[in-house]
Amino acid sequence: MIEFCQGLGEKSFRATQLFRWIHQKGAQNFDDMSDLAKSLREQLKLKAFIQANPLSKKLVSSDGTTKWLFDVGQGDFIETVFIPESDRGTLCVSSQAGCAVGCPFCSTGYQGFSRNLSTAEIISQLWFAERELRLEHGVQERVISNVVMMGMGEPLQNYSALVPALKIMLDDHAYGLSKRRVTVSTSGVVPMIERLGLDVPVALAVSLHAPTDELRDQLVPLNRKYPLKELMQACHGYLRYAPRDFITFEYCMLEGVNDQVSHAHALIDLLRPKGGVAMPSKINLIPFNPFKESGMKRSSAAQVNTFAQIVQEAGLVCTVRKTRGDDIDAACGQLAGEVVDRTSVHERRARNGVIPIEPI
Ligand code: SAH
Ligand code: SF4
Repeated sequence: MIEFCQGLGEKSFRATQLFRWIHQKGAQNFDDMSDLAKSLREQLKLKAFIQANPLSKKLVSSDGTTKWLFDVGQGDFIETVFIPESDRGTLCVSSQAGCAVGCPFCSTGYQGFSRNLSTAEIISQLWFAERELRLEHGVQERVISNVVMMGMGEPLQNYSALVPALKIMLDDHAYGLSKRRVTVSTSGVVPMIERLGLDVPVALAVSLHAPTDELRDQLVPLNRKYPLKELMQACHGYLRYAPRDFITFEYCMLEGVNDQVSHAHALIDLLRPKGGVAMPSKINLIPFNPFKESGMKRSSAAQVNTFAQIVQEAGLVCTVRKTRGDDIDAACGQLAGEVVDRTSVHERRARNGVIPIEPI
């Protein structure tokens, strides 16, 4: 932005003013930028435009959850979800059109992968949602207090676009979010976990879903590359930089697949190894949101409770996530957008035999 302003023959502080108008105030027209000289505004109108990803569809759930579907071109559509709660407003942001990790219980992964989103396409989801929600609520102050990179895609496989987007989220001239309230969720791209700690240490959530390599190789295929031992080491390392003193572990409860008593005990052993260093953690059990092709079922509430109880009695922090927005397919794992798979995921999946997973 500084370079752009200098290119117009302007001082570099104009860049900060412009940046604030766009990201802090949500301006869409240069004419609204009252502290910029008229001549500069006229120049800007000739040279630039402010535009979010074009909106394709908006759905509002009976529980107030809002889902926007954006057209990012060439047949790809991505999704962004706003989840209002009494004490916070959380935006769930996408990082890729599709996902190449291919977890068999996730509809984004099931669809395959098209491409990485640019920094602009990532931050534009926040810009659009914040602006629209302020207009809707008739307020000027911030509506979105938390961002979770838990939409479509694996954020740490789009690292170079992700980092500047995170920095804009945290910047006081832009959204000014606390780094404790911005969460990157990853299926476990080990080398990038450490880099994230160095570059922009935000809260970290790790999609675990299985306590052993044997099962995780099936549920999160990236585990074949970065097995649990390496993943746990990376998590310990991240705690040196993390804004919170624990790592969140997400665990999607799949009936007969990973929800048995033996799995709960294996999970305890993983996070609190005998003779090893305990992992400061918070386990988040996510009720599976089924989709037709997954061939898997949601664990019963009783099974989820039994699992949670065993883990809690061992002294670990464990909560069950409330499902939000499932009537508009906005719940975890239901974000399928619509992407053009450019990686032949269905052929690869058949070859690797990752799907289907037979419940035991
Ligand atoms: N790729 C990243 C972030 C996006 S997924 C990751 O995997 O962490 C966000 C969360 O939703 C992850 O924990 C993911 O495992 C979970 N999820 C995916 N499919 C789901 C489903 N069908 N039901 C419930 N949770 C699901
Ligand atoms: Fe990708 Fe995350 Fe879905 Fe796995 S759960 S396929 S990593 S988006």
